[in-house]
Amino acid sequence: MTDGPTARRLEGKPIADEIRAAVAEDVVSFTTARGRPPGLAVVIVGRDAPSTVYLEQIIRGCAKVGIDARFVELEGEATEAAVVATIRELNADPRVDGVIVQMPLPPTIRLRAVIDAIDPDKDIDGIHPLNAGLLRLGYDGFLPATAHASVEILRRSGIEIAGRDAVVVGRSAVVGMPAAFLLVKEDATVTVCHRRTRDLAAKTRAADIVVVAAGHPGLVTGEMLKPGAVVVDVGINRVSDPSAKQGYRLVGDVNFTEAAQVASAITPVPGGVGPMTITMLLVNTVQAARLWARP
Ligand code: NAP
Repeated sequence: MTDGPTARRLEGKPIADEIRAAVAEDVVSFTTARGRPPGLAVVIVGRDAPSTVYLEQIIRGCAKVGIDARFVELEGEATEAAVVATIRELNADPRVDGVIVQMPLPPTIRLRAVIDAIDPDKDIDGIHPLNAGLLRLGYDGFLPATAHASVEILRRSGIEIAGRDAVVVGRSAVVGMPAAFLLVKEDATVTVCHRRTRDLAAKTRAADIVVVAAGHPGLVTGEMLKPGAVVVDVGINRVSDPSAKQGYRLVGDVNFTEAAQVASAITPVPGGVGPMTITMLLVNTVQAARLWARP
């Protein structure tokens, strides 16, 4: 594998920009019709949470398209009851169409209690069991943003999914499993792999489409891919790099240099699935606003 990359780079940003422009237009129409913009509340428990940067990006993304987004901040020591009570208030607030809760939550707060408290009609990240169930059954509901982004980037890049063999590496409730269900919905034949999968390379090598969401830098190498495969790298991992400005750089779960010599198309990290993820949340917020504003 000494030749330069041959794979087409599936860039998320141009697609995200196109979708965001359409969302901005939808926000104008909604605001004109309803006299208020769509609203999003991001519940945050303590400012030093690892996901704060991501949540700030969501707020900025909303501002750019005209969605009224704000943090609802609880102290780091807040109890589960306080978090649940805050979510219930937001459920009842007619100016709030979508609710996101910072993940991971402090260990004293049960994830299930918080997820159950979110009104499914405001659950724009598709984490409530009702939305998860709707996806499982193939019905419309709110889709988890990252899983949606990983399949949408394929669709919008004109990659054929129907009838093709897909492997998803990772089975988390928020990324791997919903991505697998979405691929099934798109008529792919899907295998889901995890840590106990025997001979991961044999599974990925048999696949036309490989979606990797494992959180393990460089897990999928060039020789684990079938020539011409399409690769979606969902992973975002920080690896130390003293030459980088912040002392680290972001890499995916796929060895990009190797994979790009074997695959026909591949999403880069950063710049692939990442820019699409927040965009999907913006789409869902406007969808929730329309649902909530129904007569
Ligand atoms: P997670 O909850 O830790 O799940 C990881 C999954 O990968 C698990 O199912 C695990 O298997 C599997 N896995 C881990 N190592 C493996 C290995 N060596 N071989 C096979 N399977 C393996 O992580 P997540 O929340 O789904 O996130 C996955 C990745 O996506 C992370 O890098 C995360 O940073 C990234 N992410 C990106 C975005 C975005 O916007 N692009 C958004 C969210 C997450 P078991 O179930 O057997 O443990």
